[in-house]
Amino acid sequence: MAADTTPTSIGPAPVDEVRTQTRAETDEFLTSGLVPVTCAACATTVLAKKNSPQHTSIQWISDAATSCPELAEQVAAGTPSARARPCARLRESIAAADREGVFRRA
Ligand SMILES: [Zn+2]
Repeated sequence: MAADTTPTSIGPAPVDEVRTQTRAETDEFLTSGLVPVTCAACATTVLAKKNSPQHTSIQWISDAATSCPELAEQVAAGTPSARARPCARLRESIAAADREGVFRRA
């Protein structure tokens, strides 16, 4: 005999919602609008995308932790490289690319 132990669903779980959104964002991220930008100082290349003037998405495509000294410092301090901030020069390069209009906005 099998007891019915299925839990009753009471509304959405906030944590699951966040995970779903992040996954959808990542999928979109991988397929559209990414532009390679190379740091003028350390030659680290990333794929960058401007979602809005304030929001830049960055995907590391090289081992940035070894190619960018600034990033290497963050990683040495315990920040996962995927979550580290790009170095100042790379942010400048992305801003310059944005001024040149390389980012397509939906
Ligand atoms: Zn750099």
